[in-house]
Formats: sequence, structure tokens, C-alpha cells
Amino acid sequence: MQLTELVLASHNAGKLKELQAMLGEHVRVRSVGEFSSVEPEETGLSFVENAILKARHAARVSGLPALADDSGLAVDCLGGAPGIYSARYADGQGDAANNAKLLDALKDVPDAERGAQFVCALALVRHADDPLPILCEGLWHGSILHAPCGDHGFGYDPLFWVAERGCSSAELTSIEKNQLSHRARAMALLKQRLGLA
Ligand code: IMP
Repeated sequence: MQLTELVLASHNAGKLKELQAMLGEHVRVRSVGEFSSVEPEETGLSFVENAILKARHAARVSGLPALADDSGLAVDCLGGAPGIYSARYADGQGDAANNAKLLDALKDVPDAERGAQFVCALALVRHADDPLPILCEGLWHGSILHAPCGDHGFGYDPLFWVAERGCSSAELTSIEKNQLSHRARAMALLKQRLGLA
């Protein structure tokens, strides 16, 4: 796919900067916020479905190829919860409440059964009705601690034990996290698919 311009289905300036850096100067990355402030309802049941839905919306309002991401935490013994509901697990009360709810759900679960993964799904559509989106998924395997640890990162980072580093993901620097994370893995796959790797 030969891209010169695309729209990112996010209002987050940090994500836009990260993507622009990854794609280099040959592709101009624009924010969906330039075209519309309406956010589509995330009605999918999977990360991939929601990423596609957001990408189609961004392509529709901009008339440009569009990239969207959807991410979250899936805990094995909870059947993949909080999953696509990760951001609003505790009814929109924020990260600390989400973490407290997760610890409570796992309070009787032994170490061996606390496996989890961070998931990032990326969807790139050439136009709103593209029947063949480019889909890339990145998984980061770890397990859930019994108490928060570390103060970097965001979301569930303080509860996510990274065995290969012997610390939580909130104890990694942002540079270290960006080498290991679900988002980094999905982005690396996307770069390959676009012939940029
Ligand atoms: P979003 O897709 O960036 O909006 O992320 C959805 C939610 O998943 C966030 O609000 C966090 O709760 C969780 N999440 C996604 N990625 C991470 C991460 O790298 N660290 C911690 N939590 C994350």
C-alpha cells in the first residue's frame, strides 16, 4: 500500500506524534479531530472489531486512509476481562478504581493462575468501506500482582508483572516499555506490512 497521507482515529496528540515518528516524513499523519469531534460508539465485542469500527469512522469523516488502535488488558482467569472494557472497568472512575476492582476480582486467585496479556489491535483501512483492512495485533504476556508497584506508565501498569524484567510495567522506563509493549509489537507488524521495516 503506497501511503502519502493518513488520518489517525484518535484525539491523543501523543499517539499522533508517536505514529508520525514511526512512519517518517513520507507519510503525513493527521488527527481525526481535524475533521470531526464525534466519536463512534464502540459496539464491537473484540479489540479488532472496535479498531475497524474507529478506522472506518475516521476514513468516512476525512475521506483519507485511516488507522485506529484499540487496546486493553485481558486476564486469563476472568475470561479475558476487563478486555475491551479496560478503560471503564470501574464505571469510568479512573485508573486507581480500575486497579482496585481488578485486585478484588483476583483476591483468591493463586500466582500460577494470574496470567494476563496487554493487547493492542491496529486497523488500517484505505477507505471507509474497505473490505480488506490491514490488521495487526500485538500481545504482551505477563501476570497480575497482588498490589500496585511502580509509578511510571498509566492504566494497569502498576499491576502488570513483566517476568523477563523482574518488575512491573510501571517500573520500566518509557523507553524500555516501548521496546516490549503490546503497542510496540503491533506497530512493528504494521511497519512490516507497509514495507517500512
Ligand atoms: P486505549 O485503547 O489507549 O484507550 O486504552 C484502553 C485502556 O486499556 C486504558 O485506559 C488502560 O486502562 C488499558 N491499557 C491499554 N494499554 C495500556 C498500557 O500500556 N498500560 C496500562 N494500561 C493500558
